Amino acid sequence: MKIIKYFIAGFVIFFAGLFSNGYAFSQSTITNYQATFIPVYDKSNNFNIAIRMYDTNSGLYFLCVDPNTLQTKTLPASQVRFRGTNQDMKGNYFYFQKLAATPYMRLLNNFSRSPYQAENYGVTRAKNHPGGVFVTIDMCPSTQPFEKKLFSTLASLADKARQPIPIAISMSATWLLAHQQEFQWLLKEQAEKRLAITWINHSFSHPYYLDVPIKDNFLVFNAKYFEQEVLMTEKLLLEQGQKPSIYFRFPGLISNEDLIKRLKDLGLIAIGADAWFAKNQMPQDGSFILIHGNGNEPKGVDKFLSILKRDALHFLTLDIGVLSTVR
Ligand SMILES: [Zn+2]
Repeated sequence: MKIIKYFIAGFVIFFAGLFSNGYAFSQSTITNYQATFIPVYDKSNNFNIAIRMYDTNSGLYFLCVDPNTLQTKTLPASQVRFRGTNQDMKGNYFYFQKLAATPYMRLLNNFSRSPYQAENYGVTRAKNHPGGVFVTIDMCPSTQPFEKKLFSTLASLADKARQPIPIAISMSATWLLAHQQEFQWLLKEQAEKRLAITWINHSFSHPYYLDVPIKDNFLVFNAKYFEQEVLMTEKLLLEQGQKPSIYFRFPGLISNEDLIKRLKDLGLIAIGADAWFAKNQMPQDGSFILIHGNGNEPKGVDKFLSILKRDALHFLTLDIGVLSTVR
């Protein structure tokens, strides 16, 4: 009898644990999550590139990029075609030149070539008068509560703007797993159309060691597991019903040539920053602002909020319109 009691208590603790970290709320279970590169058409004959494939309870799925808008979406394999519909007697194969000429492929090529630099490689500023700034908020692993004031201040701007405020959140999986309630709060703000969130991949574990030189630290130190760091974060976002984007922020903004090339092979674009507030870098038109929403850099958040009080910053979405003018 006593043993049964312990058994029941054990189960209660186990399930309570599952619910307390929110994992049991996952929308679906994904297996065999893999990188791929397959040109496809969707049901409405829109051209897309499948960059991931995975199994779900309801069959095979693709994560696709529209190479003209850079938007991602998931499609069940049953809803895609692998060839065009025009009977051209050549089997309706694709021309690679046409693919390579799309904005997505051009950006990928642009942002994966030399000169490489250890720090802050990638998109740092849209220079061609975009008329606003990009706000990117990093969620590195943290034991602190998140910056609720920052997020709710941004969300409160939606009423005046009469539209959700576009923000990009660089999400590490280890933050997400440890802060389920705060993550759910962000999703609620998104669902209620106060925030329009672009999820930037910020790696799974966001490795960092106090005793390793900076340029050899972060993902450079963990390079062996780079693909896993990228793919498992996307998988987790998808399981939470979220849409991973084609953007990646290197932890610590530290990378090297090898990682940049491997990021390109995964179909992703590195997002740097030219206005890291905690480092006293102030934004200009088209800037990529970097602040931390994980409670680890309150100085940057305070500075951002005081500027927000003074100036009406216009926030831009990470989309093709401005990104195509970056370089
Ligand atoms: Zn980080």
